[in-house]
Order: sequence, then C-alpha cells, then structure tokens
Amino acid sequence: MMNDTQKENNHRIIKDVLKQYLQDKGFRNTPERYTILDEIYALEHHFNVDDLYLLMMQKKYHVSKATIYNTIEIFLDAGLVRKHQFGEKTLTSSSYEKSYFDKQHDHLVVYKTGSDKEIEEIIEFCDPRIQSIKDSIEDVFGVKIDSHSLYFYGYKKPV
Ligand SMILES: [Zn+2]
Repeated sequence: MMNDTQKENNHRIIKDVLKQYLQDKGFRNTPERYTILDEIYALEHHFNVDDLYLLMMQKKYHVSKATIYNTIEIFLDAGLVRKHQFGEKTLTSSSYEKSYFDKQHDHLVVYKTGSDKEIEEIIEFCDPRIQSIKDSIEDVFGVKIDSHSLYFYGYKKPV
C-alpha cells in the first residue's frame, strides 16, 4: 500500500504530466480535466465512460459524457490511461485504467457460467515469462518492442 506522502507525490507527478502535455499541445488547461484525472486515479479498477460519468454525477460534478470522452482521449495520448476492449463482442464498450505508475500486467477475462460471453470478472496477472518472450522476439527479429496486448478469455471450470 502507498502511504500519504507517496500518494501526494504521485498526485503531483500526474498533474505535472497533464499540465505539460496540455501546454505542449496547445490545449486549454481547464480544471475539469484535473478533476477527471483525480477521479480516475482514485479508482482501483477498470472503468468505462458510463461508470465514470455516474460516479461524477453522484459527486455533483457536472461534466458531460462528451467531455469525459474527449478528456480520456487526451489522457490516452498523454500516457495517463490505457484503453482495453475486454469483450470479444464488437459492441462492448471500451474500458480504461490509470496507467502512469502501473507495472506491466495482463488480463484474464472470465465469463459468467452459462452466459453467452457476458463478462463476470477481469483478473489482472503478471507473469515474468512474458518478458522473456519479449526479449527473445526482440533478439530474433532485431526490434525493440514498444508495447503488447494480451487477453485470455474463458469460463470457470465446473468444480
Ligand atoms: Zn488492468
């Protein structure tokens, strides 16, 4: 767990990242963007735009879904959030998670038993073998791997 000083430092770092990004791109430095960033960084789980919108409504922050979408696009480009498409079905909405301090991890999507790929749970895991795969792929093909995307999908085995 992080202590308060670490939290405070991290908070300052992400604010600076956003501030610098907005400045570099010539975007307006609106307080709304920082409020949305704070909300996202307070979350421990993946979220979609609807979740975030509801959360902000409950806290009486008046931001439109369009603003949230636009702001998340900015955060994506600034490397502050990561985007996921957990569902295999085409119409499932995108999920996001904060990413600036994150250790690399991958995801296991567990479907509800008996459902038609209705997502029950998303499990995060970190397996060092993935790093070794990257290393050997880099060696073999003479590339520097920039990012990767790996999802496993499945149903719980009957007990
Ligand atoms: Zn994750």
